[in-house]
Amino acid sequence: QTIGDFFAAMAQRQGSRDALVSRHQGLRYSYAELHAAARQLASALLNQGLEKGDRVGIWSHNNAEWVLMQLATAQIGLVLVNINPAYRTSEVEYALNKVGCKALVTMPQFKTSDYLGMLCELAPELMVCEPGKLQSARLPTLRSVVWIDVAGQGEEQPGMLRFSQLLAQGTPADERINAIAATLKNTDPINIQFTSGTTGFPKGATLTHRNILNNGFFIGECMRLTPEDRLCIPVPLYHCFGMVLGNLACFTHGSTIVYPNDGFDPITVLEAVQAEKCTGLHGVPTMFIAELDHPRFAEFDLSTLRTGIMAGSPCPIEVMKRVVSDMHLSEITIAYGMTETSPVSCQSDNETPLEKRVATVGKVQPHLEVKIVDPTTGEIVAPGISGELCTRGYSVMHGYWDDEAKTREAIDAEHWMHTGDLATMDEEGYVNIVGRIKDMVIRGGENIYPREIEEFLYRHPQVQDVQVVGVPDVRYGEELCAWIIVKLGQTLGEDDVRAFCKGQIAHYKVPRYIRFVQAFPMTVTGKIQKFKIRDEMIELLD
Ligand code: ATP
Ligand code: MG
Repeated sequence: QTIGDFFAAMAQRQGSRDALVSRHQGLRYSYAELHAAARQLASALLNQGLEKGDRVGIWSHNNAEWVLMQLATAQIGLVLVNINPAYRTSEVEYALNKVGCKALVTMPQFKTSDYLGMLCELAPELMVCEPGKLQSARLPTLRSVVWIDVAGQGEEQPGMLRFSQLLAQGTPADERINAIAATLKNTDPINIQFTSGTTGFPKGATLTHRNILNNGFFIGECMRLTPEDRLCIPVPLYHCFGMVLGNLACFTHGSTIVYPNDGFDPITVLEAVQAEKCTGLHGVPTMFIAELDHPRFAEFDLSTLRTGIMAGSPCPIEVMKRVVSDMHLSEITIAYGMTETSPVSCQSDNETPLEKRVATVGKVQPHLEVKIVDPTTGEIVAPGISGELCTRGYSVMHGYWDDEAKTREAIDAEHWMHTGDLATMDEEGYVNIVGRIKDMVIRGGENIYPREIEEFLYRHPQVQDVQVVGVPDVRYGEELCAWIIVKLGQTLGEDDVRAFCKGQIAHYKVPRYIRFVQAFPMTVTGKIQKFKIRDEMIELLD
């Protein structure tokens, strides 16, 4: 089955039940309405001259148009390219050209981002060409630009269409859609997602219907989603967390999606959960921390919450415990995965005892394989010993777009995806993520996992959040450095931190450098970019 087939069947069954609530846009769609609108959009995209296999970019924060693009492109075999809303001119130029996008849907402006301005800078031809007939020197494959209608935003540009104008060109009854849908295979590429760029430059993972539809379904199974569930999704759709763990997990179970906002903001999340009586809530750890620590947290009724997923980066046990006890998320799980594997490989389920659920990423998902190997020999390691996590099965990407060499580096001849993550597996099969191979610090011959030190420092009552990295050192090879965000209104000094460590962790694990900061450098997916912390620290030490 393709995503289009699956959604059509679900729309038939769910009819007038809520599919989508986009609160910041004041929009609501039932399953039947969303299906009809997606068909109308598919028809309009065909009228633009787009054909099966063509790449179409979406460069926007979360909104209903995003979902419509996801469902419309899937029905007619277009490849949706998720473009990070934090990208600026040179990055968007790279992404569009890398995958050869023919069309792009974007917002006019968002906060300080002027998307239309950036596009006109890249392709000044947009101001004089006819819609759909762009010929640009710097964006040679791009023909059409469509901008999402936002009240009071964006001036008419001759070369671009508004989303509403585009939609008006199509009809849900278009027979061409069914004809194309009948030729699609579930192994066709449907989506190119760029990785977060946590460790360096983002890579474009090419994913198929089979990859992401299955993954969305099994995630929803783990969460025991039903048509009664309403899932609040503050994580970006640009990333697989929003698109697969959010949208596809819901759509494969007839559940309702709730977008609280565009761009993260803890208050709108808490408001959305209360107002929409949400039963589920997703987030990266920093989002949950911001919600829990918000001064107005106690004002909100969150008693409808039951399930959700915390993922994307290491999930501190303390945060998991608070989420269970203070947010009613009794069934929340941690999930582990990566863009290249659609994304989830490991997740707990409802059967998992609470102490395992808060402290591990659960077990391997159904129909997938996971092994932990010694990164140098490739041999499977004994339970409890750390090694590189490798995974195999339906979820492994088609490959990196137009990058045979990188694909071969990541996926071996036996189809195992080498994740670059260090993990352990216990006798019962529960997996624990220890860190990234790249982040491991070797100080004077001792292997140190920054994650372990972070977990320890996080227990300090004045510490709100902490990141530990290694920086080069002439004497020891590397030295540990901790960046700490202190809780609002509290004070903490270097000596307090050192005293806290003394006698509790080995001397070589006590950070040599301690720095207090207001915030960490983040990707738009809410992940902390350790390489930037490391670079900045190296500069400071110079
Ligand atoms: P890039 O590959 O561009 O450096 P990235 O790896 O952060 O960026 P993603 O594919 O978004 O890009 O993230 C996948 C990574 O996130 C995993 O490889 C892992 O390191 C980390 N991760 C995901 N879930 C968890 C989790 N539950 N616990 C710890 N780490 C996690
Ligand atoms: Mg990665």
